[in-house]
Amino acid sequence: MATTTAIHNIGSLVTNDPALGDGGPLGLIADAAVVLERDRVAWVGPTDKAPDADTTYDADGRAVIPGFVDSHSHLVFAGDRTQEFNARMSGRGYSAGGIRTTVAATRAATDAELDANVARYLREALRQGTTTFETKSGYGLTTHDEARALRIAAQHTDEVTYLGAHIVSPDYADDPAGYVELVTGEMLDACAPYARWVDVFCEKGAFDGDQARAILTAGKAKGLTPRVHANQLSYGPGVQLAVELDAASADHCTHLTQQDVDALAQGNTVATLLPGAEFSTRAAWPDARRLLDAGATVALSTDCNPGSSFTSSMGFCIALAVRDMGMTPDEALWSATAGGAAALRREDVGRLTPGARADLALLDAPSHVHLAYRPGVPLVSRVWRDGEIVG
Ligand SMILES: [Zn+2]
Repeated sequence: MATTTAIHNIGSLVTNDPALGDGGPLGLIADAAVVLERDRVAWVGPTDKAPDADTTYDADGRAVIPGFVDSHSHLVFAGDRTQEFNARMSGRGYSAGGIRTTVAATRAATDAELDANVARYLREALRQGTTTFETKSGYGLTTHDEARALRIAAQHTDEVTYLGAHIVSPDYADDPAGYVELVTGEMLDACAPYARWVDVFCEKGAFDGDQARAILTAGKAKGLTPRVHANQLSYGPGVQLAVELDAASADHCTHLTQQDVDALAQGNTVATLLPGAEFSTRAAWPDARRLLDAGATVALSTDCNPGSSFTSSMGFCIALAVRDMGMTPDEALWSATAGGAAALRREDVGRLTPGARADLALLDAPSHVHLAYRPGVPLVSRVWRDGEIVG
């Protein structure tokens, strides 16, 4: 028996379809309704034209948006790095091992502990309106531990990324070439069955352009699509390499030359900005305005990880992007939903149009603009995923 649910009296509905509503990129419809049928959107339009449904839900004039698409997180880890953050924010030097600290804790954790951690952070994200998320390996750095991380991640999402090339494993400190060989050989073979994407941290102190090219090319040969941690801490080859290899996304994009901006504007690679990282490290913001004005596609994401951005809140990232990165509230909302979908090459999420997944969030506010206007306020009051109320 088909079951349908109609959500009526939506004050402002974001569809992300410019053909609907007011003609803008968000496809805003006032006094709207959405009809869900099983796990899909069946109909959107004005409430007074909505077809009958088995059950109705009264939105009472509040706003509805597509569920957030968080296209960049690192959730398979154990422990946290509270002391490191506290020292950094207190102006004290702290020389513990950064990512290496999390690698040691993650290797020591049981499968059940890692799985419980992923589930906990996903529940946290879901409550805040995130209905699609990507997550990565990268805190194992052995064949066994990377494959284990991806196997656990794959139980929670289809958007799984192999990041054996997060940093050179401490076990290979004197032999980075040997580590690249492992990442492109035995480790890749063990990890590819669980992953859709291959990623590399292309940065001074991590992997240079030649190493990154070798890692991404090997991943492509195994059927994985590239995405790249690019130009986060310094200028470098990451963005150009991402565009050249047709990566789905170049992530961070904090230090860009004009050539980098032009390459992103002309290529198919989405520029994914992760302001939680700049917030948590007191670093300079990426310039979203420059990318948007050049014509690049921009996504916003949390980068949720214990070291440099321990937030699962897309609403918080929207507020930062509007306050400090030159985005309008409309652009930031688009980038956190449709932009994230583009960064994952998905057409079925990040929009509320007939046929899309029935993934949406009801806000305790009359407009999506309140996400930036009322920062830090828990405005997400109901979440549907696959047509079911889940938060
Ligand atoms: Zn990251």
